[in-house]
Amino acid sequence: MQFSDFGLDNSLMNTVAHLGFSEPTQIQQQAIPAAMAGHDLIASSKTGSGKTLAFIIPALQRLSKNRALSKRDPRVVILTPTRELAKQVFSQLRLFTSNTQFKAVLILGGENFNDQVKVLEKDPHFIVATPGRLADHLTQGHFYLNGLELLILDEADRMLDLGFSKELGQINKAADHRKRQTLLFSATLDHAQVNEFATELLRKPKRIAIEAGHTEHVDIAKRFYLADNLTQKEALLHHFLATEKSQQIIIFTATRSDTDRLAKLLTDTDLNAVALSGELNQGQRNQIMDSFAKGKHKILVTTDLASRGLDLINVSHVINFDMPKHTEEFVHRIGRTGRAGTKGDAISLVGPNDWLSFKNVEAFLQQKIIFTKVEGIKVKFKGLKPKKSKVVKAKSNTVKSKRPADTRPRKVIKKTFLDIEDAGAMKIIKRKKPLTPQQIESDTKKEQD
Ligand code: ADP
Ligand code: MG
Repeated sequence: MQFSDFGLDNSLMNTVAHLGFSEPTQIQQQAIPAAMAGHDLIASSKTGSGKTLAFIIPALQRLSKNRALSKRDPRVVILTPTRELAKQVFSQLRLFTSNTQFKAVLILGGENFNDQVKVLEKDPHFIVATPGRLADHLTQGHFYLNGLELLILDEADRMLDLGFSKELGQINKAADHRKRQTLLFSATLDHAQVNEFATELLRKPKRIAIEAGHTEHVDIAKRFYLADNLTQKEALLHHFLATEKSQQIIIFTATRSDTDRLAKLLTDTDLNAVALSGELNQGQRNQIMDSFAKGKHKILVTTDLASRGLDLINVSHVINFDMPKHTEEFVHRIGRTGRAGTKGDAISLVGPNDWLSFKNVEAFLQQKIIFTKVEGIKVKFKGLKPKKSKVVKAKSNTVKSKRPADTRPRKVIKKTFLDIEDAGAMKIIKRKKPLTPQQIESDTKKEQD
């Protein structure tokens, strides 16, 4: 199949050809015609498989072919969970709009609010945004969504995880008319919360799923290593950095403070590493991402802030220095390598603190994971045994205690490891309730948006 088979508008087709794309990827083959036919979509495919163009192309096609519902309102809104991803989607979109009459703008948290008001006053056709800041502008009446034709949520599940459901609900309500089309994209769209949300947002959606979620990503070679403690993780890291044949590397840590500590440790040993975390201001974040994308640094140390969507073609290795707290983030983190048909390596370090997350990842991937060893690094840790919660019954022949029975209300016993192990047996780990922003530990919504 070729892009020319879609019957795209001439100038759009020219841009596709000019950018050097001839054959649509699988997700594009299915999502583009379905979106062009006007369907709402819940579309998932593996990381690096071209989802961005799968929504940009039908959006542009719709704008070229249909008359606007309103002269002033934006016609397409694209939302992403992080500023970095929004910037990337925006730059892809700009490749398509720069020679057209369509105006596209980027509205991000952490940037000057009044400048954004001025930009919105120019009645752009496309808005790419992070949801928090866009909802603020909506509340203050800086733009309206009555004429919105397409609402696109990239990495939709992550936006819900980050507690953006209120903002998404508000944006949805402001654009509540029959002609609106809604497209949801991610590599992981199978947790319960997404389905609940989809019922609210989408109308008779078509589901397209291609090698998504827990399916093996054949271009990414995964290896797992046990470690007793932090010192051993650092020794393993140094070993990999010395022995792996690599281009650029992204190292994921659990917390923001770890990113700085680890980046310093690496620069102290003359490795070219930088840390990206939400504590930095937007200018610093932009500068770090730009210079890493340009290849000025070998190693980027970051949190899940950079786990989603970033398309950095020279990343040959992803190292999970700590395992991710949210299981799906594993798929997204490792998906920063092995993109668009290239090969990549994903190395994960598993210490006692990572064990629960590791078991959840193992269950999510639906495979039994075998650990690799490094010669010369002796690891004692072999994993945690599931604890059996014992029900202790008083034996009839035991001597009765003289102490009166304790009738005080019992504290709720914390979930034992066994509960989570059992959960691992499920095909898909479902969250009982949406996470509230407060529940999101170190990397809060503020960091992301
Ligand atoms: P995803 O969102 O699925 O993770 P992206 O949209 O970021 O993937 O695309 C990954 C890479 O694949 C990008 O560098 C993009 O330019 C490239 N790409 C997209 N579509 C095609 C195509 N049809 N042919 C070749 N490369 C493509
Ligand atoms: Mg993407």
